[in-house]
Amino acid sequence: MHASTETLSIREAPALAKVREMVMGCMQCGTCSASCPNAFAMDYTPRQLWRLLLLGQEQEVLGSKTIYLCSSCYTCTVRCPRGLPLTEAMHALKRLAWERLPQTRSRAAFYQAFVEHIRIYGRVQESALMARYFAKSRDPRLPLSFTAAGLRLLRKGKLHVPDASHKGMLKRVVDAAMPKEGRT
Ligand code: SF4
Ligand code: SF4
Repeated sequence: MHASTETLSIREAPALAKVREMVMGCMQCGTCSASCPNAFAMDYTPRQLWRLLLLGQEQEVLGSKTIYLCSSCYTCTVRCPRGLPLTEAMHALKRLAWERLPQTRSRAAFYQAFVEHIRIYGRVQESALMARYFAKSRDPRLPLSFTAAGLRLLRKGKLHVPDASHKGMLKRVVDAAMPKEGRT
């Protein structure tokens, strides 16, 4: 079977080879997965993700939800017995997915909207966050797909008008974290 053009372009990306280098020493002990606070929601645990990457399953890796569910807590990095730079590897994969897999951009749009939103408001303001997400996704069908969830939240009194009481409180934290993700 011939690889698709997209697969080839991902395989040939020097940046991807670099990420593979980062996790080359993985011995599949599972400490990263056991330590990760978000592993329960990931489609592949961190250990599985590294294995897939080393097996050359780039499409699976870059198309996974896992890389967007990593909250950069650095627990896996601190606990990995091989001392591998796992959080940096997650960041690099996120950047590659954005650049090379357009079909994953709605996940990236939510991720970016969330970070920008927290930077400005200092806390989640549900309605403003979703408005930012919809604008970033540039998909007119997206707001419609959230109509039912929005109505449920409204009925339960979970949607609030944005307030400025925490505005800017996390700006310095987010600004300090951005360069670590390779973003400015
Ligand atoms: S903790 Fe390190 S060695 Fe263990 S599975 Fe995770 S990446 Fe591999
Ligand atoms: S840095 Fe990401 S992958 Fe590692 S433990 Fe934290 S959330 Fe999990």
